[in-house]
Amino acid sequence: MEHEGPELLYLREAADHVRSQHVGDEVHLRAIIEFSNVCTRSCYYCGLRRQNQTVPRYTMQEEELLAQAGFAAELRYRTVVLQSGEDPGLVAEDLARVVQRVTAGLGLVVTLSVGERQRSDYASWYRAGARRYLLKHETADPGLYRSLHPDAGWDRRRQCLLWLKELGYQVGSGCMVGLPGQTTAMLADDLLFMQELDVEMAGIGPFIPSLNTPLAGEPVGSAAMTWKMVALARLLLPQAHLPGTTATRVRERDGHLEALRWGANVLMLNLTPPPYQDWYQIYPGRRQHVDPRTQRELVVERLQKMGRRAGSGPGHSVKKATW
Ligand code: SAH
Repeated sequence: MEHEGPELLYLREAADHVRSQHVGDEVHLRAIIEFSNVCTRSCYYCGLRRQNQTVPRYTMQEEELLAQAGFAAELRYRTVVLQSGEDPGLVAEDLARVVQRVTAGLGLVVTLSVGERQRSDYASWYRAGARRYLLKHETADPGLYRSLHPDAGWDRRRQCLLWLKELGYQVGSGCMVGLPGQTTAMLADDLLFMQELDVEMAGIGPFIPSLNTPLAGEPVGSAAMTWKMVALARLLLPQAHLPGTTATRVRERDGHLEALRWGANVLMLNLTPPPYQDWYQIYPGRRQHVDPRTQRELVVERLQKMGRRAGSGPGHSVKKATW
């Protein structure tokens, strides 16, 4: 790779070594279903922001979502990530019922990623069987956070993450790399924040300028800096799950696989059904239109070529004996 000078090579090898020692050679495959793109927030970087009227909005019906989760189980996924925009109209009890049906009914592990909610909602979903929650902190610099989120503050984001931790979730946080105005000192703070929170998962990906957002004209985040961040996250959080995020794939064709060489050990494969996949436009270039069966087979094959293998278990955090 063009960005492999001697220091970077050393960093990559160190991260790869720590990864193999602490979380092994398995790569956990998660199926992500983006079940709604309805969002009331105005985050400057995100294509789902409510001001973007060019995106057709959708919310999958419960049965449709259940059928898709069933398909994921059939394809031998053990985890489904249920993600959406932030929609206060999403009724906590409805999602709790879905969680219950997917966990108890289909035997899958559920990761939720539906944004900032009340503590009682998080608690009800935990009771329903959800064990993981993904809420990226986006940036740990309160000033930069404010400049990107006109309708929400850093303290609230942090509070939500603390609640999730308290409730016993395996918590995934993470940040974007190359945000306008972001310095390397801020990136260091992102890593330290995740270390302090002792996250079970850290999703690190480049900022991708999204059409029809205020940041559409800004430059894309650096791939090399993203690899460095992933590698450093592995050194600071040896036991964490680190995904090769989808955004790395937009930045570089096989970016998600490249991340696996820099300390990553998780891949999230898109299982959002076709009409909706096109409308979940957080950022451009995500569209894949591959048959989910082929998608999984291709990844398993590529993993084998890299000397890695698809995880066979539920892929919980290795931090505790039982979750
Ligand atoms: N609403 C949910 C999750 C949906 S967005 C929540 O708030 O957690 C999922 C993630 O996509 C965000 O956390 C953000 O890190 C990422 N994202 C959004 N816009 C992006 C962009 N333009 N470039 C890169 N990542 C982006």
